[in-house]
Amino acid sequence: MIDGGEAIRKLALNVARYTGLAPLARPFVGGIGAILMLHRVTATPEKPQSVNRHLNIAPTFLDAVIADMKADGYVFVSMDEAVERIKAGGKGGRFATITADDAYRDNMTEALPVLEKHGAPITIYVAPGLIDGTADLWWDVAEDIVNASGRLILSTSNGPAVIDCATPARKAQAITRLHAYLATEVREEDLRTVLRALASSNGVDADATRLRTLMNWDEIRTVAAHPLVAIGAHTINHSNLKRLSEADARREIDAVKDMLRAELGSEPLHFAYPYGYASAVGCREVGFARDAGYVSAVTTRHGVLRAEHAGFLHALPRISINGRYQNLAHVRTMLSGVTTPLANAGKMVVTI
Ligand SMILES: [Zn+2]
Repeated sequence: MIDGGEAIRKLALNVARYTGLAPLARPFVGGIGAILMLHRVTATPEKPQSVNRHLNIAPTFLDAVIADMKADGYVFVSMDEAVERIKAGGKGGRFATITADDAYRDNMTEALPVLEKHGAPITIYVAPGLIDGTADLWWDVAEDIVNASGRLILSTSNGPAVIDCATPARKAQAITRLHAYLATEVREEDLRTVLRALASSNGVDADATRLRTLMNWDEIRTVAAHPLVAIGAHTINHSNLKRLSEADARREIDAVKDMLRAELGSEPLHFAYPYGYASAVGCREVGFARDAGYVSAVTTRHGVLRAEHAGFLHALPRISINGRYQNLAHVRTMLSGVTTPLANAGKMVVTI
């Protein structure tokens, strides 16, 4: 789950498109390849107007993106091969690899047929706590709570805060407020307890969305056996690692390997930081992922890959294929590399 930096990416996209910069800039800012980031891929989202709709694209759009990139010369490879190509400085031509966070069931039922058609590999990052129900899809539950409620009372360090959820406009503001409260004001360790209390006092089933939308272990085992699929790690509990102690953060990164090996029979080689933005992953967390022995680790920072990333294999940026802008021109602009420095204060090699 992500939403960090969306406004700046959109601004960068528009600057690049309206100035006609993208095609001209490619020789200077273009990368050696790209890691695409997906979450949900479904033609029938349960809540098409959800605040989280940026996390869903239609399978037809995935099909169009891959076809367009292939026509433009991209080769679709596994994350293992992407790492080898980064280490080789991009020799062998431009490449792309596809990733999907959180293990949504539609990755298997709706994305995989598209990937099979194109022979495009995917890495699906799994947080076992979300699958087992020891962690929550709290950003979805938060939306359900606001939709079910006319008024919420949050306990904050400044005393109770009353949130008006009575009208559609107020609900939109309330969801933003509740997201910020849960992500930054509540301790990471208390997130689940606070969320569950709000859910139960508003008659919301906190497990319903998770059970409906995420794969169970049998489904993950089935998809893991597919030749185009690799399973990566996404911490145990989808934790914001930066908000945890060193011991807890290391455990989330290390012990998830044992849990995935126990369920799937093999250890994950690749890792994705939950949330992946600046307030969730920094130098410390990158060091932990490297220490844990992962071959690669991806953030949600916006950027194309460059040869210099050979030195930063545990802080790889991605290109989010965003559900709000399902438009090939947007994707082409991002892949040109022109939005990379625009969205990152001029940096061409985006790490953390
Ligand atoms: Zn995630």
